[in-house]
Amino acid sequence: MLNAKLASKSHPEHQSRVRITDRVAVGGPELLIAAGPCSVESAEQMERVAVELAPAPVQLLRGGAFKPRTSPYSFQGLGLEGLQILDGIRRRHGVPVVTEVMSIPQLEAIAAHVDMLQIGSRNMQNFELLKAVGRSGKPTILKRGLAATLEEFVMAAEYVLSHGNPNVVLCERGIRSFDSYTRNVLDLGAVAALKQLTHLPVIVDPSHAVGLRELVAPLARAAIACGADGLIVECHPVPEQSVSDARQALSLDEMVALVEDLRAIAHAVGRRVAGVAAPDAMAA
Ligand code: PEP
Ligand code: MN
Repeated sequence: MLNAKLASKSHPEHQSRVRITDRVAVGGPELLIAAGPCSVESAEQMERVAVELAPAPVQLLRGGAFKPRTSPYSFQGLGLEGLQILDGIRRRHGVPVVTEVMSIPQLEAIAAHVDMLQIGSRNMQNFELLKAVGRSGKPTILKRGLAATLEEFVMAAEYVLSHGNPNVVLCERGIRSFDSYTRNVLDLGAVAALKQLTHLPVIVDPSHAVGLRELVAPLARAAIACGADGLIVECHPVPEQSVSDARQALSLDEMVALVEDLRAIAHAVGRRVAGVAAPDAMAA
């Protein structure tokens, strides 16, 4: 099916690990749990997120500084100020951070301030951006396009890989379908297929997939049960006040409880959730 020279598995046990920092990697037996708000809103917000999620533990914090919004009149993100907030958090708490890059001109500043890049669904086939991220060599989460086939998704990853960046993590985040009750439809078949077709780590974003906070935890559990290498979940100190994607945001307590719930499921499928937070991540 695929002419993906670099993304394809060369043998059944071929599985890449993508290293984000000395202590955090994805693709091995330990799951990667990433969480945080949809948008970086303030230093105080991110500080609470870092402090309250550290014991879970959450190993990677997310937060958008440049936001791809449907409407040009909606909050577009704090931009450079958001990057500086993320940088402060990673330095003070010793926890890596990921944020979305939407365009080539943003890439240099973003790469200087964060540990990991995210290419969002709307940019999955922005081929010039894929090439530039490839040249950057930065660990990158590539999210599946809103209606992308698996072949299109894997070939988008191939762009990044073939431009010199082996550190690609695929993210299934739901695809468009006919029913608007949930925001999208989480394609767990894709997760299983990508694990068989490629050697790249595959994580799941249940938040954008379902769009409703009460349905996020069940989908997160199912994702781990079916072989995902990790999760990226939206949560907020005061979910209803989230400036973007409020309806799908978990509270920080709910996020901590979700990580706890995942332990038994991870164990059942031969994986594990990190036991205790790394000492630096606990330091306030
Ligand atoms: C996000 O992670 O905030 C986001 C916009 O995700 P997606 O690109 O999957 O819609
Ligand atoms: Mn969001």
